[in-house]
Amino acid sequence: MLEILKQSSNPDICMPLVQAVKEKAKEYYHVYGRKPAFMEVCGSHTMALAKSGVKQSLKDDVNLISGPGCPVCVTDQQSIDAMITLADGENRIICTFGDMMRVPGSSGTLMEAKTTGRDIRVLYSPTDAIRIALENQDKQVIFLGIGFETTIPILSILIEEANRLQLGNFTVWMTTKLVEPILRYLLDAGDVRLDGFILPGHVSIVLGEDSYQYLPNEYGISGVISGFEPAELLSGIYKLLNLSLKNQPLIENDHPSIVTKSGNTVAKEWMDRYFTPCDEAWRGIGVIKDSGLDIKEEFSSFNAKKRFQIEMREPKKTKCRCGEVIRGLISPEECRLFGKACNPLNPIGPCMVSAEGSCSAFYQFMRESV
Ligand code: SF4
Repeated sequence: MLEILKQSSNPDICMPLVQAVKEKAKEYYHVYGRKPAFMEVCGSHTMALAKSGVKQSLKDDVNLISGPGCPVCVTDQQSIDAMITLADGENRIICTFGDMMRVPGSSGTLMEAKTTGRDIRVLYSPTDAIRIALENQDKQVIFLGIGFETTIPILSILIEEANRLQLGNFTVWMTTKLVEPILRYLLDAGDVRLDGFILPGHVSIVLGEDSYQYLPNEYGISGVISGFEPAELLSGIYKLLNLSLKNQPLIENDHPSIVTKSGNTVAKEWMDRYFTPCDEAWRGIGVIKDSGLDIKEEFSSFNAKKRFQIEMREPKKTKCRCGEVIRGLISPEECRLFGKACNPLNPIGPCMVSAEGSCSAFYQFMRESV
């Protein structure tokens, strides 16, 4: 496997692939009179395309647009505000992932709240939240549950374990997101012309190839499930170009060693056991119907939204344009704050905070090329 990965970033393999993609893109231009536009759905793809130089190499040939698949970037202000309000209460411990600490809410970040003495802890493994709850039975432990279908099964395990241990001091604040509703939202809105999707490698392990059939069947658009190495990305883009030129919308699985047709049925069963669809707010977009998951009623004792009555504030308007970035409406450098008021040391929006955010990727790897 390591050898395959090494080969996938070998310039002797990648450079001919870049050339092949450029040739195919020329054919596309000849037929349609414009560059093709493909959206990468996943934040890891956004970072891989920028870091490997694939995006820069193809900038004159293919319009590669970053999409809404970075879980930190799409987390709404209200969930951050709620966590800060929760941390204000007596005897509470907030647990979250490192990236979330610097994501701005309406009036501050979890990091700032921590510096004022609130007990907010960064976890490397979500299961540490259970250990913390066991060790602090006099305190309420609240875990901020973010992520897409890749992470959600882990949250099921947390609830299973909390239930088995009959923990009365552990809850999850769910602000998870689902891939299908956001892709449907983007396609229904029709604000960006898209000719295909580079579909996420990780999420697809859970969802499976068949879960994307609505793209060709209902929207007439293709998708290629791709890995993360340069050669894999280039191969995915080449296949999308081929499908577009044939005008033959299809889902192709270019990551078959890991992604199966039906996905991980065990993980899906775990999600079904504990969660039910709910409307969910997306940063800079607003609420999308049934685009998230909430904890089922029978496990509501582990639902932080039910246990703690937090008044949700309206999101505050800011100059950050992350909402437009994650919808593919603008590229990061079109935001007037990019690289000036907003940079990795002083991020104004989550797309600059996140290790997978478009603004962060653009700042780190693509500034010189604009
Ligand atoms: Fe938001 Fe900063 Fe990106 Fe602008 S550059 S969209 S302020 S994260």
